[in-house]
Amino acid sequence: MRDLSAGPRVLLKRLREIMAEPLEPQERLDRIVRQIASNMVAEVCSVYVLRSDGVLELYATEGLNPDAVHLAQLKMGQGLVGTIAASAQPLNLSDAQAHPAFRYLPETGEEVYNSFLGVPILRAGRSLGVLVVQNKAQRNYREDELEALETTAMVLAEMIATGDLKKITRPGLELDLTRSVTIDGDSYSEGIGLGHVVLHEPRIVVTNLLNEDTDTEIQRMAEALGSLRISIDDMLSRREIAMEGEHREVLETYRMFAHDQGWVRRMEEAIRNGLTAEAAVEKVQSDTKARMMRLTDPYIRERMHDFDDLANRLLRQLTGFSGRGSESFPPDAVIFARAMGAAELLDYPRQNIRGLVLEEGAVTSHVVIVARAMGIAVVGQAAGVVALAENGDAVIIDGDDGQVHLRPMADLVVAYEEKVKLRARRQEQFRALRDVEPLSKDGQRIKLQMNAGLMVDLPQLVESGAEGIGLFRTELQFMIASTMPKAEEQEGLYRNVLKQAKGAPVTFRTLDIGGDKVLPYFRNHEEENPALGWRAIRLSLDRPGLLRTQMRALLKAAAGGELKMMLPMITEVAEIRLARELLQKEVQHLSKFGHGLPRRLQFGVMLEVPALMWQLDELMQQVDFVSVGSNDLFQFSMAVDRGNARVSDRFDILGRPFLRILRDIVRAADRHDTPVTLCGEMAGKPLSSMALFGLGYRSVSMSPTAIGPVKAMLLQLDVGALSTQLNALLDEVNPSESTRSFLMRFAEENGVPI
Ligand code: PEP
Ligand code: MG
Repeated sequence: MRDLSAGPRVLLKRLREIMAEPLEPQERLDRIVRQIASNMVAEVCSVYVLRSDGVLELYATEGLNPDAVHLAQLKMGQGLVGTIAASAQPLNLSDAQAHPAFRYLPETGEEVYNSFLGVPILRAGRSLGVLVVQNKAQRNYREDELEALETTAMVLAEMIATGDLKKITRPGLELDLTRSVTIDGDSYSEGIGLGHVVLHEPRIVVTNLLNEDTDTEIQRMAEALGSLRISIDDMLSRREIAMEGEHREVLETYRMFAHDQGWVRRMEEAIRNGLTAEAAVEKVQSDTKARMMRLTDPYIRERMHDFDDLANRLLRQLTGFSGRGSESFPPDAVIFARAMGAAELLDYPRQNIRGLVLEEGAVTSHVVIVARAMGIAVVGQAAGVVALAENGDAVIIDGDDGQVHLRPMADLVVAYEEKVKLRARRQEQFRALRDVEPLSKDGQRIKLQMNAGLMVDLPQLVESGAEGIGLFRTELQFMIASTMPKAEEQEGLYRNVLKQAKGAPVTFRTLDIGGDKVLPYFRNHEEENPALGWRAIRLSLDRPGLLRTQMRALLKAAAGGELKMMLPMITEVAEIRLARELLQKEVQHLSKFGHGLPRRLQFGVMLEVPALMWQLDELMQQVDFVSVGSNDLFQFSMAVDRGNARVSDRFDILGRPFLRILRDIVRAADRHDTPVTLCGEMAGKPLSSMALFGLGYRSVSMSPTAIGPVKAMLLQLDVGALSTQLNALLDEVNPSESTRSFLMRFAEENGVPI
């Protein structure tokens, strides 16, 4: 009896020889199809390659009319070949012409062939082309023949992916693998970057496809699977993971896949057909991915990611692949990842990163917060982007519009290069203002400070020309850590910040966690309304240990110097007293043990909850300063969730109600001579900061990149004139125009750049 597995093995051996010969690509392809046809006793063997215009072109054939090569073509989804490419599924037909999708191409002369077996040429689950065999006799191809053809298709996938076929692609046409695509995502961090793709989870390229000895490969596979299973069991039994719901679920799914007999059987079959263990993993991974990618159920798609991760782990076991070599990191990297932790981003060399593209993520996710702090453009929710990209592909990331242009056309590159130049010129102009005193045209001195939260922000203090840090969000250190930062770590950060600030004032805000700022390691209860829930000072007062540790760290870090500390989300002034008592205890404790204390301590609060509007006089008397958190104050005043795009822009932050609220605050502060700053996002937009100065604010804090544009606006602004007109408009009972349109008009008529 004929050994069924001998056929494919012999075929792969021959293919290996053909691949090793120094041949022109067309000649190589021709030899390959001839070899496959003869080995599979087929009268026809053809290769169709997918072009960037969605057309499958006949690239080589044995048996069909040779004149049809590079002429016969089918659209994606059209005919049997197009159906295979579109579905990424094989077709095995004894009577091809009876199939509803059959389409007769007269130039090929294929009408005499009845049976048809076609498989997709896959890479990372994407169809790059189709490989077909045909026979005159009506026959059903066996399962092992299908397997053999799929295995052979892997060799072709490699040939296409390495760019081998470029030479024989007709001028003006491109292969799908090099197609330019634009992917629409969400804008998470502004900025534009031109550069080259770096896949965060590098694709393990299996170069050793064809095996020498089946038994050895089966043995290697068994060993790798064994250690994979042990490592998963190991992770599952570790206590800290056993506590966490979501992580555990992923590992359980891993375990399920790792023991899945179907998966193991398919990989072993691929080895028996002549592949190495790693090539077998890759083949089955690609087949599975292709099938799952076409499903829309989000749960199944999520499991697909888990399966993919697991297959990659197995590949790493087999190839000893331990990550990217630093030599391959381009100087203009745009990092592509499905998802990513903040710490992982910090591991990359900052100066080489032009952008970050995420398939998942949220504006509030930690990696995005960190990327924004680092001034890196980020596009999120860019569906399917990782599978479309290859390491080293040219790419443009447009963080302003939330678009990613992969392998862009030359004219688009030129347009973006212009944009980048223009931005650089504007930045240059703002930089020139860095040391200019922030005085309005009529001589009002305004304090421009910056917001920060991580060490990576600090260099901006000098670069932006900010006078200090008006809001240091201490929770960021907690958010990017995998475990609760210890007292010494907190103290270390604060000390370092103060040192780098070199005497410029820094206002530390105590922990503002809860709401959307979740700490993975801090057990939080499900809340129906997290924004109104157990967060910020509420949580701190209920867990005084946490707050006291932080207060102590701040006091110690600022020993001998100045310390400015403020509390987030105060609702009733009574809360200030409670927090002050805790602070007092820490001061006493430290002095009792002979520690140095800050020379000067200023204690303030954030004004973010509307209830404080009816306690303004008490508030102003009880604190050393107030900082208006306009992001939250607006969200609570207007009852619109700041993170919900559907409603967050529904009401105008420059509308009458909110400007009147802001005016009441600054008037109360003036009555009591209490310094007031505003540190929400609105401070960083020239038009709204202009409004703030008109209302009477003389101190604002914003993202460092906004300092230049706001200062440029201020230098041209007559604050007194604006103030008179704005106040009059806000007092009018039946205003003739909206405050926003008045502000725009004022800027335009007075030549104020906004
Ligand atoms: C605010 O609410 O305006 C603010 C500055 O705090 P955060 O954005 O951190 O909530
Ligand atoms: Mg806030």
